Amino acid sequence: MGIKNDSKKCLYCGGCVGLCPVAALKLDETRIVVDNSKCINCNACVLICPVGANVLDRELKK
Ligand code: SF4
Ligand code: SF4
Repeated sequence: MGIKNDSKKCLYCGGCVGLCPVAALKLDETRIVVDNSKCINCNACVLICPVGANVLDRELKK
């Protein structure tokens, strides 16, 4: 389980980055980078995103 970021939808607003309790999200120059080895699947970045760019992927292997 982990987070997938859809770079086609993402506006790079950075809103999800500051919200992540374990700093698993980073704003690169052109994309959001997710470190799923840190992610605790709290869903905060999914709920905060105004365009639905972060999706919880239950099949994702860490
Ligand atoms: S689900 Fe929670 S822990 Fe995982 S990247 Fe999103 S905000 Fe961070
Ligand atoms: S909140 Fe959504 S639009 Fe903003 S940086 Fe995160 S994934 Fe992208």
